[in-house]
Amino acid sequence: MITCSPLIDSHCHLDFPEFDPDRSQVLTTAFEQGVEVICVPGTESERWEPLLQMCSDIQKPVKLFAALGIHPWFVGQHEPNDLQRLAEYFETNEHIVAVGEAGLDFALQSVNRKAQMFWLTEQLELARQFGKPVILHARKAHDLILKQLRQKPVKQGGIVHAFSGSEQQAYQYIEQGFCLGFGGGITYPRAKKTRALAASLPLSSLVLETDAPDMPLCGFQGQRNEPAQLTVVLETLAELRREPKAEIAEATRLNTIKILSLLP
Ligand SMILES: [Zn+2]
Repeated sequence: MITCSPLIDSHCHLDFPEFDPDRSQVLTTAFEQGVEVICVPGTESERWEPLLQMCSDIQKPVKLFAALGIHPWFVGQHEPNDLQRLAEYFETNEHIVAVGEAGLDFALQSVNRKAQMFWLTEQLELARQFGKPVILHARKAHDLILKQLRQKPVKQGGIVHAFSGSEQQAYQYIEQGFCLGFGGGITYPRAKKTRALAASLPLSSLVLETDAPDMPLCGFQGQRNEPAQLTVVLETLAELRREPKAEIAEATRLNTIKILSLLP
């Protein structure tokens, strides 16, 4: 079923090996479901080059945009000179739309918190330096991240992906110029708090995402997630908000274009 307005998946790891066998089919299916644009965030330095290649090369119906950064899960395998490399990418490649995904994941015990803080702080600094928005990964660490943003704002704001914080934290991010990403998480009835927030926050601050191949939707546990599932995220959000699907599709599309300064 084709939705009324083209959709943007603001967060999909299309470069991950899970998509190697059938990446172009995945994109065709997504396009048939109304997904016209996908933003692919970076995760670790060894994937930066292939990610950029994929976004520029691939013969595809869907337009791809790249963000580049170091995900908090992978900070342990990076060295300070990777920061220099990252800065060089931003200096020389004008097609990279954002820094990220960067952030703090304190739900994960195995990654050193100090190292996570270091890489977040440095990547926020890069965003300020190059005037880019940031794609944030934040789990059990919203207040720490917000403190950093308040002390030294990132002018272009960004997206807090797969938002699962409190209402107060949501509004604090919005105050800092951030949009909040909602994805498959809202399809789970048990996610009461996040669903209530998705229903009540201003539409002007929401963007859609799948986080594919991760975050399978309710009913699809254990399967690979795909960008085509964005339509289900949209339908769920429309039901939760009791607003027309077309209105949400259009608003979230425009929000994503604006926050990431996506060129046509
Ligand atoms: Zn991600």
